[in-house]
Amino acid sequence: MNKKHTGLVFDIQRFSLHDGPGIRTTVFLKGCNLNCLWCHNPEGKSNKRQLKYLDEKCILCKKCENACKFNVHYLSENKHFVNFNSCVLCESCVRTCPSKALEIVGIEYSAEEIMDIVSKDEAFFGDDGGVSFSGGEPLNQDNFLLDLLKSAKKRNYTTCVDTCGYNLWESYEKIIPFTDYILYDIKGINQAKHIEATSKDNNLILDNLKKLNKYNKKIFIRIPLIVNYSSSESEVQLMADFIKDIKVEAVTLMPYHTLGRSKYEMLGYEAAPVFDKPSKIEMEKYTKIFQDKGIKIIK
Ligand code: SF4
Ligand code: SF4
Repeated sequence: MNKKHTGLVFDIQRFSLHDGPGIRTTVFLKGCNLNCLWCHNPEGKSNKRQLKYLDEKCILCKKCENACKFNVHYLSENKHFVNFNSCVLCESCVRTCPSKALEIVGIEYSAEEIMDIVSKDEAFFGDDGGVSFSGGEPLNQDNFLLDLLKSAKKRNYTTCVDTCGYNLWESYEKIIPFTDYILYDIKGINQAKHIEATSKDNNLILDNLKKLNKYNKKIFIRIPLIVNYSSSESEVQLMADFIKDIKVEAVTLMPYHTLGRSKYEMLGYEAAPVFDKPSKIEMEKYTKIFQDKGIKIIK
């Protein structure tokens, strides 16, 4: 009998319109192989469960301070300090908090448990919609992802995997037969900038995309446009030149945004840096660069 895996999931979003074709339910898996400076899903960075503290919900009642044996919570002069590094995730404070200001991010599920949740939305999927897997990087838990994809296929859902590309090729080989759509991120061609922005080089990412291209899958490319990194005319030219030789359905250009920045503090991370956004004129110029090479752009 095949071994069944469990995995850590940090969110399930219903009625997603931007995680693949049609109306989709998106499951977010924990853990990522890159460390992008602008990441807007910091809950996905770590592959472990984490304490989350929502300051705006705290009524400063001190119940967590009394409940925690590890001195994680300290309240003084109407301020709540959280020593995230000392937390052992026992959940005592979460259970005692009267205002839901504390949560544990990351719940362990089996694939069937996830699909039972997803199945509640199946009436909305239509012909194109279905289930998407994102993160973090979903292939970071490749055996769990494989179980999820197989389970989704048994229920006749279309499947979509949103990947950063930085995974061993063997992981992609496993999931390809059960994946209909691939959302593939490209964060730049300039090697030095890519390393500075994501902590890893882009060789594996570009090689994996070329290999995926041979499998006749529907591939959608997503490009975050960040000033000083991917958002320059020369860099966009290089990305368009690379993509024009790949059989892709379309490219989506995603200008930098600050959504998600507040979550860094909630998880005990250092504040994320702020970048400039590409202007409307620059976005139009970048769109034209792709279109001039015959590459379809979708919003
Ligand atoms: S989860 Fe447990 S160890 Fe962590 S802060 Fe809450 S009570 Fe303390
Ligand atoms: S128990 Fe909840 S509301 Fe009370 S101080 Fe702790 S986090 Fe704030």
